[in-house]
Amino acid sequence: MSMSTKMLFERRVILVLAGVGALAVLPFAVIRLWQQDWAIAAVDSIVSSVFIAIFAYVWNTEKTTIPGFVISIFFLLTATLTVVLKGPQNIAWLYPSMIGVFFLVGRKWGVTVNVITIAIVMAVIWNQVEPLDRLTLLLSALATNAFAYVFALSTAKQRKLLAEQARRDGLTQALNRRAFEEQLNWLVSVHQRIHSAPELIIFDIDHFKSINDEFGHDQGDRVLIQLTRIIEARLRATDQLYRIGGEEFAILPLETQPYHSDSLADELRQLVAESSLMAERSITISAGVAAHQPDETAEQWFKRADKALYEAKDAGRNCVKVSPSFDDTTQHAAAS
Ligand code: GH3
Ligand code: MG
Ligand code: MG
Repeated sequence: MSMSTKMLFERRVILVLAGVGALAVLPFAVIRLWQQDWAIAAVDSIVSSVFIAIFAYVWNTEKTTIPGFVISIFFLLTATLTVVLKGPQNIAWLYPSMIGVFFLVGRKWGVTVNVITIAIVMAVIWNQVEPLDRLTLLLSALATNAFAYVFALSTAKQRKLLAEQARRDGLTQALNRRAFEEQLNWLVSVHQRIHSAPELIIFDIDHFKSINDEFGHDQGDRVLIQLTRIIEARLRATDQLYRIGGEEFAILPLETQPYHSDSLADELRQLVAESSLMAERSITISAGVAAHQPDETAEQWFKRADKALYEAKDAGRNCVKVSPSFDDTTQHAAAS
C-alpha cells in the first residue's frame, strides 16, 4: 500500500517534469534553429524529444526508476552544456535542475549526482569568472543541495508516517482492520509456498458492554488500551496484534511451530485473566483459533475462527476453542 502511494507520487512528479521540460525546451529549440545556432538547437531538440519520450513511457508503463534517472541526467547535462556553450551566466539553470533531481531519484542519489555536476560546472567556468564569483556560485549551489536534502528527508518521513498511521487504530495504536485484511489475504496467497498453514487467533473481551455501562465509556477505553499493551508486551515482534472491531482483536502469528496458536491463545487468555486490568472487577477474554486450509478464501478462514470464538463464548467464556482444522494437532503431536 505504502509502496503504491510512493509509486503514484513519483509517477506524477516525472510526468509533470517531463511534460513541463518538453514544453519549456521546445520553444528554445525553435528559436535556436531560427537563429541558426546549430549546436544549441541540436541539444534543445534532443532534450525535448527525450522529455516527450519519457512522458509517453511513464504514461504507458507506470515504471519510474529508470525514467527518473534519465530525466535527472538530462536536466544536469542540459544545464552543464548550456553553461559550456553559452557562458557562466547560464549557471542559473543548474539550480532548478538540481532540485528536480531530488524528486526524481531520491535524496541520496540526488546529492551524489548534483555534487558531481557542480564539480564539473565549476571546472568549466573556473577561468571565466572572478575568484569571488566562484565562491558565490559554489556556496549557493551547495546550499541549494543542503536545503533540498533536508526538505526531501522531511517529506519522506512524513509520507512514511502517514502511510503507517493509515494502518493503525487511533485509540490503542494496534494495527487496524485494514492492515489485518491485507495481511490475511497475503497469507492466503503465500500459503502454497510456505511449510506450514498460517494460523489465526481472534479474541473478544467478555461482557465488555457491562464494563461500559457500569464504569463509563472512558474506563472502557482505558481497558482497551491497557489490554493492547499487555498483549503486545507478551507477543514476539513477528506476531502482530490487530484491533479488528470494538473489543475484538486478531493475531496472525508468523514463524510459529505448526499448530501452536492454540497454546499461544491460551497463554494470552491466562495473562489477561491474571492481570489486574481493573481493580473493581476481573477482565477476561474468549478466543477462537483456526489454521488456514488450502483452497480456502480469507473470508472462509476468518469465519471459521469467528465460529470457534462463538463456541468459546457459548462454553462459558474465558476459554479458547479451535476450529476443526486443528484436528491435525494430535497427528502433529504424535509425529513430533
Ligand atoms: P460478550 O462476552 O458476548 O462478548 O459480551 P460483550 O458485552 O463484550 O459483547 P457486545 O458485543 O454485546 O458488546 C461489545 C461492547 O463493546 C459494546 C460497545 O459499547 C463496546 N465498545 C465497542 N467499541 C468500543 C470502544 O472503542 N470503546 C469502548 N469504551 N467501548 C467500546
Ligand atoms: Mg465482547
Ligand atoms: Mg464483540
